[in-house]
Amino acid sequence: MINPSTDDIEFLIALNAELPSSPPPRLISEYIHGRRVMPENTPFPGLVDLTRTQYAVEIMDCFSPWNPTQYIDVMSASQVVKTFIEENVVGYYIQNPAPILVMSGTDDLLKKWWDKRLEPLIDSLGLRGRMIAPVENEKSRRTGDTTKRKLFSGGFLEQASAQSAASQRSDSIRIALLDEVDAAPQRLTTGEGLWDDNVENRTKQWGTRRKIGAFSTPVEFQTSTIYKRFLLGDQCEYFVPCPMCGKFQLLVDNDFAGNHGLRVEKYDDKEMVYYLCEYCHDAIFETQKTSMIKAGRWEPKTTPERLRRSFHMNALIAMYGGFSWLDYYTSWKTAHRTPDGMRVFTNHQRGLPFIDAGTRPKLETVLENRGKYRAGTVPPGVLYLTAFVDVQRGSKSDPENPPRLEMEILGIGAAYRTWSIAYQRFEGEVDDPYSGAWEDMHQWAVKNELTFERREDGYKFTVAIILIDSGDGETSDVVYRFCQRWSNTFPSKGFRSIKRRKNEAADKSAPDELTESSFKRYRAVKLNEDVTLYEISTVYYKNQVYANLKIPRQPGAEQRPGFCDFPIDYGEHYFDMLTAEEKMSDGSYDAKGRRNESLDCRAGCLCGADIWLDSELLNYRAWAKANKWNQQDIQRITHRTVIDELTRQTAMKKPA
Ligand SMILES: [Zn+2]
Repeated sequence: MINPSTDDIEFLIALNAELPSSPPPRLISEYIHGRRVMPENTPFPGLVDLTRTQYAVEIMDCFSPWNPTQYIDVMSASQVVKTFIEENVVGYYIQNPAPILVMSGTDDLLKKWWDKRLEPLIDSLGLRGRMIAPVENEKSRRTGDTTKRKLFSGGFLEQASAQSAASQRSDSIRIALLDEVDAAPQRLTTGEGLWDDNVENRTKQWGTRRKIGAFSTPVEFQTSTIYKRFLLGDQCEYFVPCPMCGKFQLLVDNDFAGNHGLRVEKYDDKEMVYYLCEYCHDAIFETQKTSMIKAGRWEPKTTPERLRRSFHMNALIAMYGGFSWLDYYTSWKTAHRTPDGMRVFTNHQRGLPFIDAGTRPKLETVLENRGKYRAGTVPPGVLYLTAFVDVQRGSKSDPENPPRLEMEILGIGAAYRTWSIAYQRFEGEVDDPYSGAWEDMHQWAVKNELTFERREDGYKFTVAIILIDSGDGETSDVVYRFCQRWSNTFPSKGFRSIKRRKNEAADKSAPDELTESSFKRYRAVKLNEDVTLYEISTVYYKNQVYANLKIPRQPGAEQRPGFCDFPIDYGEHYFDMLTAEEKMSDGSYDAKGRRNESLDCRAGCLCGADIWLDSELLNYRAWAKANKWNQQDIQRITHRTVIDELTRQTAMKKPA
């Protein structure tokens, strides 16, 4: 406990006397421009030039004390100026003192900000002299409140996490900055209601002088807090003039097609990204972006409410020299290669909430995905085969639903492309691994050795891994025993999702940046010496199936990443089952009584594909280690390396 001595108090009074007596500029932008110095460890160090991010000016000026706006909601891409604006507001209200609360949905970011960016901000704006040394608070120590506070003459800056109710104190605040609101759970676990409402309550005493700013990259359409808040405001978009014709327009990607928007072309094998003007259709280059942004303006979509402004920004207007149009394109391309990638892209680059279109893939679209090859043959592009067996106990008396095994063999290619190779149904008893349907399946496999041929050159593919569903408790033992009859064959069990255990490594190879680190696609569980059971996160794989089934067939031979191909001779029943389940708004799947075996098989085959690829990667690395490769080179071996090697091995032989 530090008690200020008389000397300290006199020192503080003396400090106060030295403070500037003239008030700070009326506008926050005026205060920041040419005054704030960005530290060396930021992308644009040096004196701040606000014209490079002109759009930030109007937003931060809504926070100025002379502006009547009370609610400012900013829904934006991740690479745009959210943090910068929040910092400037904080700086201004230390100078023109007020009680400030900065609350974040992501604790990690907040901690980093407090530790790494706040101090340089205070120094660069010459605010160090206003800060008052901290006094340990007896009460906070008792209650375990970890809220951080900085005191300055005339106010305080409080930092709190939206995740913990303990940090939601009751002191009145004038300036509330809510950072990454969509990253926080909407409701406090303690049942105290919506956290942004809670914060709002703390500002009430300040009446018309309060400011509540929320900033976030949006998430799902149905649950996004920032999107809800955005809709309450005037919904501004930033329009910039074309350097050629001068017409104002909103920069959009238009999926790199259509008569305007972002475009990409190849020059000498290099991808060049430019922008086609909506009006004169001339090419605009990114070097012109800075002057366009400087001359841009916010345009509201609805009549502005007096107290409420809202702004949307995508990553196309990120400061020149930062996140580029080429980065944007690369990210769009990756999104198409990645299951669920468009969700991430929509949130982080377009700065928009993601709307999950359609709860079931359209049967007609999927039927059109039937290709030119026949069942049982392997088309070019396939790198390896996986199989999944679904066990149905059925009912002896129901001819529609007899006891049976259903099996899909799936061809896996690069970039998540798939080809169904065969779909088999074996009817008969399923409670003895040596008779009935099991024996039929075994005899079928003995005959074809689970090997399938590429018609074009006779190249033979043997199924690399087989998973058999052992979910139903009554048959699991039968499944475990059958798996002993075949090599590379494992029992599996579906779970809605698999949470990472404390002692487990995060699923690093999970494809998108948003995948929580607490999530696993599958887990290997050793049941005994001989049996390894694979637990499968079924929702993850069904999401992947459904996302990919939406990809339409392109004219010509080259298909988009993720595209699912089917033999020409598959009947409609297969496709009915594949699209049987409805994806519910809580993310779960429901077959609503419809037959869904081919969807279960497909999800299982995709999981098998990941398991096998992961194990190959380990094999490659083990080989490299045995051959005394250095650690750096070993780490350079990735899934990509395995895919490239498979591509080489399975390359079509040139006709003699
Ligand atoms: Zn133009």
